[in-house]
Amino acid sequence: MAAKKSTTFCSFCGKPKDETTMLISGIEANICDACVEQASKIVEVEMGGFPKKKKADSDFKLNLLKPHEIKKHLDEYVIGQEQAKKVLSVSIYNHYKRLSDANQQDDTEIEKSNVLMVGETGTGKTLLVKTLARILKVPFCIADATVLTEAGYVGEDVESVISRLYQASDYDLEATQKGIVYIDEIDKIARKGDNPSISRDVSGEGVQQGLLKLLEGTIANIAPEGGRKHPDQKFVKIDTKNILFICGGAFSGIDKIIAKRLNTNAIGFNSAQNATQTHELIEQVAPSDLRAFGLIPEIIGRMPMITFLQPLDREALKNILLKPKNALIKQYIKLMEIDGIKLSFDKKAIELIVSKAVEFKLGARGLRTICEKLMLDVMYDAPSKNDKEVIITADMVVNKLADLDTKAA
Ligand code: ADP
Repeated sequence: MAAKKSTTFCSFCGKPKDETTMLISGIEANICDACVEQASKIVEVEMGGFPKKKKADSDFKLNLLKPHEIKKHLDEYVIGQEQAKKVLSVSIYNHYKRLSDANQQDDTEIEKSNVLMVGETGTGKTLLVKTLARILKVPFCIADATVLTEAGYVGEDVESVISRLYQASDYDLEATQKGIVYIDEIDKIARKGDNPSISRDVSGEGVQQGLLKLLEGTIANIAPEGGRKHPDQKFVKIDTKNILFICGGAFSGIDKIIAKRLNTNAIGFNSAQNATQTHELIEQVAPSDLRAFGLIPEIIGRMPMITFLQPLDREALKNILLKPKNALIKQYIKLMEIDGIKLSFDKKAIELIVSKAVEFKLGARGLRTICEKLMLDVMYDAPSKNDKEVIITADMVVNKLADLDTKAA
């Protein structure tokens, strides 16, 4: 005889009682545990998607360091880039002073000072901002401007940047509103060509307009859990007025624009001379150059602090390899130490690694690629051998990097 089937059902999803973990009975209806859970989520969203941490719960405190202290921290991790470090230290300090002054009744309102960093790839733009966020203990997120371009031209897409910051703050509304956003590759949303065209420019002006609103200060509507937005949802409203925006980009070719403005010839036959010129030219970067590059004047106006990062020369690359608190070489030595192996590098080996990085023209990014390739076999073999010491010699570097050359070709 067949087993007796359940005759009680969940009035919401229709599941029979024996297929649920629990079925709660009401006067004229029943509800299963799964539907209770789902209903609870709907209620949460409909109630305005209250943030997980409400204002009163926020344990967010500003860590107000003086510019000198901020720079000292940056120095531990970032080699060179003195000007950028100074500019960032001052703007962060002012930004937070401004926040702590916000409640005072006074006629003088300190305006927000977003920052723009111009510098080739791999010169430390992201590293600077990441280091800053760590020492200041504020919510921080990185957004890539190129992704915003792909997503379309509706303001919503740009707001996803704020949504990410909200997630980074662990849904702490108050902290989010005082966070830092780093927008990378802002140069990629530049308008193509100097002249504002009559036809719609699909290459990025729409995104620039969207970003402009965030930079100026707007109320961004984002989904409560930071995910996708649904039309019937109640949104979390985040005021971007006090969020500090730091934008960065390589602005490849801007040296020529600067040279043109300054009436100098940036194109020469001597590459060493060219390198020095780029070095010097980039220091002169001005709002008009950014405009010529294709940023809209309004967005430039919202980034009053413009700074530059110098291309990394041989000496800087060598220092990056050896000196910062978490320098690559220090990391490999530590990794080996855990296996009881003493790792060291010949001086000549270091020089060869640096030479390769210079050739790569990827700034300090090249160092990592080179070292990973160089160290792979050592890290693979050494733990299984009984060697107590490994020395990376110049010969080893030559062998491994010859292989790397072939692949790159
Ligand atoms: P960018 O954002 O300018 O393209 P990143 O900051 O992402 O470059 O740099 C890539 C990596 O190179 C960093 O993680 C860091 O290890 C190293 N690096 C780059 N510039 C520096 C620098 N000035 N000092 C120390 N390390 C650096």
